[in-house]
Amino acid sequence: MNIFESMAKDGHEQLIFCHDKTSGLKAIIGIHDTSLGPALGGCRMWPYSKEEDAVVDVLRLSRGMTYKSGAAGCNYGGGKVVLWGDPQKDKSEELFRALGRFVEGLNGRFITGTDVGTVASDFVWSSYETSYVVALPEEFGGSGDSSVITAYGVWRGIKACAKEVFGDDQLKGLRVAVQGVGKVGYHLVGHLYEEGAMVTVCDINKAYVDRVVAKYPVRVVEPDAIYDVECDIFSPNALGGVINDETLPRLKCKIVAGAANNQLKEDRHGDLLHAKGILYAPDYVINAGGLIQVADELQGFNRDRAFKKAAAIYDLLLRIFAISKRDGIPTYAAADVMVGERIERLTKVSQLYVRG
Ligand code: NAD
Repeated sequence: MNIFESMAKDGHEQLIFCHDKTSGLKAIIGIHDTSLGPALGGCRMWPYSKEEDAVVDVLRLSRGMTYKSGAAGCNYGGGKVVLWGDPQKDKSEELFRALGRFVEGLNGRFITGTDVGTVASDFVWSSYETSYVVALPEEFGGSGDSSVITAYGVWRGIKACAKEVFGDDQLKGLRVAVQGVGKVGYHLVGHLYEEGAMVTVCDINKAYVDRVVAKYPVRVVEPDAIYDVECDIFSPNALGGVINDETLPRLKCKIVAGAANNQLKEDRHGDLLHAKGILYAPDYVINAGGLIQVADELQGFNRDRAFKKAAAIYDLLLRIFAISKRDGIPTYAAADVMVGERIERLTKVSQLYVRG
């Protein structure tokens, strides 16, 4: 793999390879773009089969964070760190402290927290070595579980989609198929129920299905049957890649809007949704609630302020839909255009001379 070529392709600024013999740390910090501010992004711990996979992942994920932060109106750039190891076996105090020291060495150019394979308590160790960590447990000053605000943002996003497609953002009487009722899906069902939507759910974990059925009058289907449910809105809140060649012909909805990351298996599946007249809420915009919460932590967490920002996901999506119509492009591409335009405008503003 030609690393500089790969960095040049999407405009990555920096890759930092971190190694520590004592703890066995092998980590790569990726900084994609700091035009808007310090790079912010979680730490993914994964047992990559080879070095190249870790590099590809950190490049992809850090770039995604630039767009996510940029869309949500946060003054942060995009970064990520991948920690090469097995989250079940390889965690230790010295590992996360070593990582903390490397993060500290960047002097605020990069701020990290949890992602797949890591949990808030891991970063309590890192916080002994660096102040550039967020999403710590509440008793250590963190803002706590982000799934509540994420679900709230997804609900606001679904309302924007309804406004765009049906001309009214009331969800009463609309049929919503919710894939995955874990942390985010569970709270989302609550919002949908309160508004009078008719909800169908599925989950591979029966305990999670039972929990939601005990509280709300939802219909339950087998996990694979969710793609065939006649509905107005399909809401993926489980896995990535669920919009693909196999599922697309089965969808009987007018809107795809949910919290899952990387819902489109490939970009062309976003083109196909567009061609079929199904409105897609770009995942990194509609699921930005968690990022908004973590970014707010860096200003001293204020719950009301964070929820107000998450509510604005509604307006962001309407703006993206307008760009999609203006430029005749699918919504996933319109989201990138919106962020690109914001970065360009703010980069120009930052060139105004200020002494010091
Ligand atoms: P979670 O693990 O609590 O919930 C995911 C649920 O999906 C689980 O209950 C799991 O059993 C279920 N599931 C897995 N495979 C399934 C399948 N094939 N069919 C049906 N259900 C299946 O995770 P979460 O925190 O609720 O996050 C949900 C999604 O949203 C993930 O993709 C996550 O990356 C994304 N997301 C979460 C947040 C957040 O703040 N938690 C923020 C942004 C994005």
